[in-house]
Amino acid sequence: MKVLVINSGSSSLKYQLYDMTDESVLAKGLVERIGMDSSILTHKPTGKDEVTEVSEILEHNTAIRKVIDKLTDKTHGVLESVSEINAVGHRVVHGGEFFKESAVVDQQAKKDIRALIDLAPLHNPAAIMGIEASEINMPGVPQVVVFDTAFHQTMPEKAYLYAIPRVLYNKYKVRRYGFHGTSHYYVSRAAADFLGKPLEDLKVITAHIGNGGSLTAVQGGISVDTSMGMTPLEGLMMGTRSGDLDPAIVPYVMNKEELTVSEVNLMLNKHSGLQAISGISSDMREITDGLEKGDPHSTLAFEMYEYRLRKYIGSYAAAMNGVDVLVFTAGVGENSAIVRKAVCENLSYLGVEIDEELNKVRSGDPRRISTPNSKVEVLVVPTNEELVIARDTYQLINK
Ligand code: AMP
Repeated sequence: MKVLVINSGSSSLKYQLYDMTDESVLAKGLVERIGMDSSILTHKPTGKDEVTEVSEILEHNTAIRKVIDKLTDKTHGVLESVSEINAVGHRVVHGGEFFKESAVVDQQAKKDIRALIDLAPLHNPAAIMGIEASEINMPGVPQVVVFDTAFHQTMPEKAYLYAIPRVLYNKYKVRRYGFHGTSHYYVSRAAADFLGKPLEDLKVITAHIGNGGSLTAVQGGISVDTSMGMTPLEGLMMGTRSGDLDPAIVPYVMNKEELTVSEVNLMLNKHSGLQAISGISSDMREITDGLEKGDPHSTLAFEMYEYRLRKYIGSYAAAMNGVDVLVFTAGVGENSAIVRKAVCENLSYLGVEIDEELNKVRSGDPRRISTPNSKVEVLVVPTNEELVIARDTYQLINK
């Protein structure tokens, strides 16, 4: 049984083909610059050479057709025919309150995903394009949607409501949803497996810190709080996003600088965070390079990033009245020993103690970086959102 996982963005499309008999990846790849000139398809069949092709790909339908061409290509392919694909799993960013778990795509599911475009104007239209392009190119093949928000639907009202007039929730569903749910779900379970303990008995804080970043308090296996809100802008300081700020700043700055709604959105989403404070980059590698060279702006950006991350960890330990496991994942969490060290050094009041040598180890497997004396198990767990999507897809269509 083979499952094609698709992560469709507005101008890009990532894919991975799984053989679910052993959950191996047969091929993966990426189509970039959809709708622009010189679109690029990069295809990596497992055990064979990577191929890159530049052509004009105007929309998602053509992108999927090209992906299928590559998957079934005589030289670079891994399938005899497209009919070997048994199901398609799609990543969808916003499931709102409609989707508490993954779902098989039908007319109602598509209608609900469309109804959420207001809440995710950049992401949900792309997901719909990916779904419809798959329907055209793989007619009759069942499709499943897996949501970034679904794992957080267990948050209690006290965590998800904003302290603003209730009518805004009733009319427009203004509330906190949280994102990166597939990743928080995966790494919390992988952490419990690694420790050989039942997740139901654990208080886990998962730190998914990459270009975007969010923290989740996972208690008894479910999400009880998470740092992103109605949109992925709330919470931690990120590569180019501001994270938390006084909401009064928005009308103040709009007024002073005569900014439109889209301009202020652009400022907070694309021109803030590490990028704004360092003036150099949104990439943690460049920030830590700057830190090591003594650049004052990079140093401040690093300190703000770490300080805010640490404050959130403390607040989630408070939310759960304790923490047994702290998990780092995603680009920064998996790779940046210096960020992990800075955060953990300042969590000694929780009994966190990390082993500096273990912290420096690089590996693609889950690993412990805390000492045997540490009161909190600190782990690095590589995330795998595609695998969760493939598993959910497989399970749902076999129900
Ligand atoms: P992600 O969004 O999970 O793909 O993470 C991407 C981000 O991870 C990049 O923008 C970098 O900031 C960060 N990153 C990747 N590799 C490293 C590394 N070796 N050290 C520090 N940060 C890294």
